[in-house]
Amino acid sequence: MTDTPRSHGRKTIRPSLQPRDLMSEEVHLVRAWQAQVITLFPEAFPGVLGLSLTGRALQEGRWQLHAIPLREFGEGKHRNVDDTPAGGGAGMVLRPDVMGRAVETAMQRVAGPVIYLSPRGRPFSQAMARSLATMPGATFICGRFEGLDQRVIDHYDIAEVSVGDFVLTGGEIAAQAIIDATVRLLPGVLGNAASTEEESFSEDLLEHPQYTRPAEWQGRAIPDVLMSGHHGEIARWRRAQAEAITRARRPDLWARHMARTGRAEE
Ligand code: SAH
Repeated sequence: MTDTPRSHGRKTIRPSLQPRDLMSEEVHLVRAWQAQVITLFPEAFPGVLGLSLTGRALQEGRWQLHAIPLREFGEGKHRNVDDTPAGGGAGMVLRPDVMGRAVETAMQRVAGPVIYLSPRGRPFSQAMARSLATMPGATFICGRFEGLDQRVIDHYDIAEVSVGDFVLTGGEIAAQAIIDATVRLLPGVLGNAASTEEESFSEDLLEHPQYTRPAEWQGRAIPDVLMSGHHGEIARWRRAQAEAITRARRPDLWARHMARTGRAEE
């Protein structure tokens, strides 16, 4: 990438800006994908998203990050955001009035779906990342404690999305995972566009194994076919490996792949 300023819409972004400077609430670049996050911990952003390819794309204005601090919408002098669960039980629940005000603000600022990160949600997938990447942006609600009052979810018809069958302490890491998976699909973010077409989950297959130099390590050689220079054979070998790995590790993906390609299980 060059060091020259790059224009993506109204404003020219200098690559020397720090990621945090780019998390502005005021400036929205016209063609940048907008990631908006409602969180009690805005300092957790951009976090790892400010590094490497996603960080460079942030500096280039290909996407923007807006953190909405939930605390600012809190009640009273102490800006309370949570209360004890109705019906009793452990922990605290995020209040619907407080979150409602944050969601209203968020919806005025960024177009696109509002997503609540939640272990009860629809499992996140590469297909969802592809779909999000075609939208103007998205708003992510990070829960904490026992989560969010159900009425906010119902009132705004908020989509619940999970990053896996485990429980995190908060939605921030989940939001970062989804934003990362989406941003790398935006045009120009990955240097080599072809790499998103061949990687895991395209065509419901896991990726073939990868090797690099040295040619031999700990007595293990790179498979001969990869050193043959024969592109057709390499492609066939990689395909066969991808199929074998998918079939062995992920029967669910394999079944989808077979259905997609119209093949019957042997
Ligand atoms: N009591 C809730 C868990 C709360 S964990 C339950 O049992 O369902 C606190 C917050 O972490 C959640 O509100 C959610 O925003 C986030 N979180 C935890 N696990 C998650 C997961 N697997 N995917 C997405 N978000 C998650």
